[in-house]
Amino acid sequence: MKAGGFEVFVVGGCVRDILLGNKPKDWDIATNATPEKIQGLFPDSFYENTFGTVGVKSGSDDPALKVVEITPYRKEAGYSDKRHPDSVIFSHKLDDDLGRRDFTINALAVDPDKGQITDNYSGLSDLEKRLIRAVGSPDKRFGEDALRMLRAVRFAAELDFVIEKETAESISKNAGLIGHISNERIGEEFKKIIQSKNPAMGLALAQKLHILSHTLPELEEMVGVSQNKEAHKYDVWEHSLRALQHAADKNFSLEVRLAALFHDSAKPATKRQEDGKTTFYGHEVVGAKVARETLRKLAFPKEVIEKVEKLIRCHMFFSDTEQITPSAVRRLINKVSKENIWELVNLRICDRVGTGRPKEEPYRLRKFQSMIEEVIRDPISVSMLKIDGNDIIKEFHVEPGPRIGYVLSALLEEVLEDPTRNNKKFLVKHTAELLKLPDGELKGIGEAAREVKTEVEKAEITKIRRKRGVK
Ligand code: ATP
Ligand code: MG
Repeated sequence: MKAGGFEVFVVGGCVRDILLGNKPKDWDIATNATPEKIQGLFPDSFYENTFGTVGVKSGSDDPALKVVEITPYRKEAGYSDKRHPDSVIFSHKLDDDLGRRDFTINALAVDPDKGQITDNYSGLSDLEKRLIRAVGSPDKRFGEDALRMLRAVRFAAELDFVIEKETAESISKNAGLIGHISNERIGEEFKKIIQSKNPAMGLALAQKLHILSHTLPELEEMVGVSQNKEAHKYDVWEHSLRALQHAADKNFSLEVRLAALFHDSAKPATKRQEDGKTTFYGHEVVGAKVARETLRKLAFPKEVIEKVEKLIRCHMFFSDTEQITPSAVRRLINKVSKENIWELVNLRICDRVGTGRPKEEPYRLRKFQSMIEEVIRDPISVSMLKIDGNDIIKEFHVEPGPRIGYVLSALLEEVLEDPTRNNKKFLVKHTAELLKLPDGELKGIGEAAREVKTEVEKAEITKIRRKRGVK
């Protein structure tokens, strides 16, 4: 179609999505007009990059159409660093523009007037066959921009397509090149895989094609690590993928999906043999750290990382649901926070399904859920105590300082044990006792309410509590 004297084609992902019957996330237009000419035609537009794309505000309320990106035809330029073209070369020909695109299914153009499709690389036939195939020589294309290899995996997971043989072999061969790509760009594709309908398939494919070991070596470590056969049918890697896939099947949040993938990521590092049994003590604490460091590296938002970390740190609390008491459930809510407790239940569901040996647990899980409902309105944080720092300062004439915080945490310990203790009379009386203790001991009591503990730390706390005659 011609508009304002220039050629106009709808190109790329949105054409693919329409032909597949999916709603496009955004619309891309290609043209033989220069960025300056495009801006001249659309005064309500912005041009803030080096590759020619002009964003045009359409005035539509549809988020996919709010800003339409119009890009001058471009040609593939040289790539000496495997990630950025050395220069941006504009072209007058649509064919050049389609030739620089990554996969045949992404290299289709539609004339919006006539509805006619330009298909220079058999993209229509690959759509039909559900294949991801590089445009031109895969070795050459992955050599230009190594991120394309991870994009191939991402499209396979999003669209439930297969990577065509020659393209897949080329990825396997060139996987090491992905080391040239920035962690941010890798993070964006990784997130899309996790958010797709088939994240387990995507990551299994990334592993098989050697992309995983070059992008997320901490996940690769899980491959082939065996675990207790009674509880688990699969090795740590397959268990994690199945847990993640269940999160996707249930449409759980990004954080639950990530927690499902990383919850056992420290099992390889913490695996020990004790009296003929395999143990992974502390894997929840180390695993939370692995997730934090990896997600930080991939530039995930801070809030997402914090939530994933909390979920992973707390995931072992569910292992003793038989003995669980209301006070233990309150402690758990205190650790993971009220807003995350149901996400933790979701993670537990994924973890269980991922074992491949679900036993009678739905009953226990239901019992657990009803216990959460029972105690969720109980006081579970210092701010919910019927006494505050100022009350303590006034009543006992103590100086403001860290000791006040230790006292409040120690009081919370009591209230988590028994919510009826949350009354001023009990709290004042108990504060008098607590203030007699030296700093170290006082701090130790309250810490249990503040920190999630490893098995070893928990044993220490129990010892201290026993010594003090607390059950
Ligand atoms: P999404 O649904 O995620 O938006 P998309 O196919 O639109 O998928 P984009 O990253 O938005 O993907 O890119 C738009 C189009 O630009 C692609 O369809 C493809 O034609 C082209 N493209 C994007 N990234 C690359 C790349 N690294 N190499 C070659 N072509 C690319
Ligand atoms: Mg797009």
